[in-house]
Amino acid sequence: MSTYDVAVIGSGPGGYVAAIRCAQLGLKTAIIEKYATMGGTCLNVGCIPSKALLDSSHHYEDALKHFEDHGIEIPGEVKLNLEKMMSRKASVVEQTTKGIEFLMDKNKIDTFQGMGSFKDKTHINIASAEGEDQTIEAKHTIIATGSKPASLPFIDIDKERVITSTEALKLKEVPKHMLVIGGGVIGLELGQVYKRLGADVTVIEYMDRIIPTMDAAQSKELTKVMKKQKVKFAVSHKVTSVENTGDEVVVKATDKKGKEVEFKGDYCLVSVGRKPFTNGLAADNAGVKLNDRGQVEVNEHLQTNVENIYAIGDVIKGAMLAHKAEEEGVFVAETIAGQKPHIDYNLIPGVVYTWPEVASVGKTEEQLKEDKIEYTSGQFPMRALGRSRASGDTDGFVKILTNKETDEVLGVHMVGARVADLIAEAVTAMEFRASAEDISRMSHAHPTYAEAVKEAALAATGNRALHV
Ligand SMILES: Cc1cc2nc3c(=O)[nH]c(=O)nc-3n(C[C@H](O)[C@H](O)[C@H](O)COP(=O)(O)OP(=O)(O)OC[C@H]3O[C@@H](n4cnc5c(N)ncnc54)[C@H](O)[C@@H]3O)c2cc1C
Repeated sequence: MSTYDVAVIGSGPGGYVAAIRCAQLGLKTAIIEKYATMGGTCLNVGCIPSKALLDSSHHYEDALKHFEDHGIEIPGEVKLNLEKMMSRKASVVEQTTKGIEFLMDKNKIDTFQGMGSFKDKTHINIASAEGEDQTIEAKHTIIATGSKPASLPFIDIDKERVITSTEALKLKEVPKHMLVIGGGVIGLELGQVYKRLGADVTVIEYMDRIIPTMDAAQSKELTKVMKKQKVKFAVSHKVTSVENTGDEVVVKATDKKGKEVEFKGDYCLVSVGRKPFTNGLAADNAGVKLNDRGQVEVNEHLQTNVENIYAIGDVIKGAMLAHKAEEEGVFVAETIAGQKPHIDYNLIPGVVYTWPEVASVGKTEEQLKEDKIEYTSGQFPMRALGRSRASGDTDGFVKILTNKETDEVLGVHMVGARVADLIAEAVTAMEFRASAEDISRMSHAHPTYAEAVKEAALAATGNRALHV
């Protein structure tokens, strides 16, 4: 039987990063993945394929609607080849998952394909798809088994017309009318993909606004822009039934006045969140406790109730984000190696990759009010930037929230072109506990979208923005 210092169960961004860091630290490491490809949800059916389709559909929309503004004429009709778009996405995924295999080899990590389940707290059984079993021994185990799409108890996900993000990433036709249940990140990104490709899209959301966990100003701006793009929204609607009637899906909901409303479409994307995945892990054989939400319970060291077993990523509490899982992978590897790492969860950024993009870090205005922290808000509109006018991406803003007394940056919230990349400046500033004045006195290249960060910082330090 092979013996390891560390066995990692699951090869998503949490698991594979944990394995690499363990190997870098000189620990003999194994990684177990039940699917034939490495990379988990993120690489196979999450971040990477969704971004590939967002980019492709953006090019298509530009060719249809915006090339003309730039003086580019296309003789003849612009046509969509959905099959080719999907096969490009598949090859991006393949290159990326192959990259993980390369990294495992490079770092001399043993990879096992099969379902990993605990026999006891130091032995893991690996059952291959061909029905062969083998057991490995591990001094430490990291559970990184991720998550699966969640649903509502009365919805039958038939994967044909009533679908999750996994099916939405490989549709063979553009829906005529896609109903999206849930106005969170995944629903909005995939809704926008199909809207650009020609579908009518209606987003049905239970809360009174989309992206409800982000700053209300972002939600308002994104709603405004997506409405201009002709996406329809039904907020404050509680879905009560979803029925596939053959060629059609009928969704019934009650609005805030209690009136029943009916929506009809040919596809219904159920994007109401994700749930932790521990099926087949036999956690109880090792004595590992789950909480009532099905998450593996961990302490501040991400250690389970069993001393030598840790858990990271979507399967534990916290934001379900690839970069959060990665931070936790590094954290646990370093903890096992005897180091004292640290993660500041307040500084894990959140991003929506619609266009315009939405990005946030730190406290929202609503949270600051709730915590009774006195703050100052400085905001700068993207339309006032030369860079935005040059590219034609004038929607959005950067908003910086600071401590009223000390000027320390407490939260940064953005909507606009490339803000998924711009948010890194805010994270760096906040990691070093910068004040708005610190940011406002740094030179930002001209013309860039980043100038909006400097201008918002100037606005936060006594209305000093220069270009509004
Ligand atoms: C459509 C979509 C878009 C997304 N976009 C983004 C984005 O842009 N940015 C972002 O940060 N996040 C995004 N996410 C979320 C992101 O994918 C997850 O947060 C991330 O993948 C979590 O990583 P993880 O390592 O915890 O688990 P996962 O990536 O879910 O990986 C878990 C792995 O464990 C394997 N496994 C499970 N049980 C066993 C077992 N018993 N034995 C062996 N293997 C097992 C699974 O097969 C899987 O490969 C998106 C998700 C979706 C669905």
